[in-house]
Amino acid sequence: VRLFEQDTLLVPNTWIVVRIDGRGFHKLSNHYDFAKPNDKRALELMNAAAAHVVRSIPDICFSYGISDEYSFVFDRHTSMFDRRRDKLVSTVVSTFTAAYTLLWPQFFLASTTDIASPDCGLDLAHLPTFDGRAVVYPSDANLRDYLSWRQVDCHINNLYNTTFWALVQQGGMSQTAAEEHLKGTVSGDKNEILFSRFGINYNDEPLMYRKGSCIFREYDTLPPPANTLQTDPSGNATGAGSLAEAAVSDGSDYRLSDVPEKLSRTQLDKQRKAKAKAQVVIKHLDFIKDDFWKQRPWILGGHPLRTR
Ligand SMILES: [Mg+2]
Repeated sequence: VRLFEQDTLLVPNTWIVVRIDGRGFHKLSNHYDFAKPNDKRALELMNAAAAHVVRSIPDICFSYGISDEYSFVFDRHTSMFDRRRDKLVSTVVSTFTAAYTLLWPQFFLASTTDIASPDCGLDLAHLPTFDGRAVVYPSDANLRDYLSWRQVDCHINNLYNTTFWALVQQGGMSQTAAEEHLKGTVSGDKNEILFSRFGINYNDEPLMYRKGSCIFREYDTLPPPANTLQTDPSGNATGAGSLAEAAVSDGSDYRLSDVPEKLSRTQLDKQRKAKAKAQVVIKHLDFIKDDFWKQRPWILGGHPLRTR
């Protein structure tokens, strides 16, 4: 009977991204009267739920959210659940959804703290739910491209929505007319409409709306190496290394860069503690350019730093 249970294992030494996405959030946002084009409460609730996921799962090194979606990036050397796809995706989705539901009253009804109260706002017929998927990216560049794609999408969608709702809410246009008006326009046109007709400088719009939200660990002291091997109970690193060592000893130019550094048990322990102590921060920054990653080399690793 056990043979019927088939696990899909995600390819080793690849970045695993689990992306969750709100189901039917168009309808849900109308039902709960989300503000258009952006509802600050709803976005901050997404961020709070995602921060909880990052805190609960130490192997998540970075996450990024826009609208009703969030992407969670796992350390490329993670061995969580032996990299079983179903376990990883379902754990992220349920951890996120549970937090989103529990935290809802904090953001939507500041005065209500009791989730069981009938006033908490959520009703069974309109519960927020999310789907999830896992995608693996083999190189750092592939991962950066994926994340940049999401942040570009954030910009394109937000500029469109900001202009669309300005035309409707302040310009008195019907939604159909506004849609028609924006057909074929490029970003320069939309900036111009916002500025000349409504006095809105798009660059003054809140960063959270324009850049989305990223969540990661910030360290007071230098962070531990980002990518490590797990050790077996005897404290020996498992899984890799022998090939690389053989290559070193016979002087061939076997590439060592993809082999994670072996850590002792004490080092692993130190790393665990540093991660637990690290502050999980929510920022609205551009990470398409290199600067973001250069300033925070511990996120994608590859440049293991020593703990002080
Ligand atoms: Mg959706």
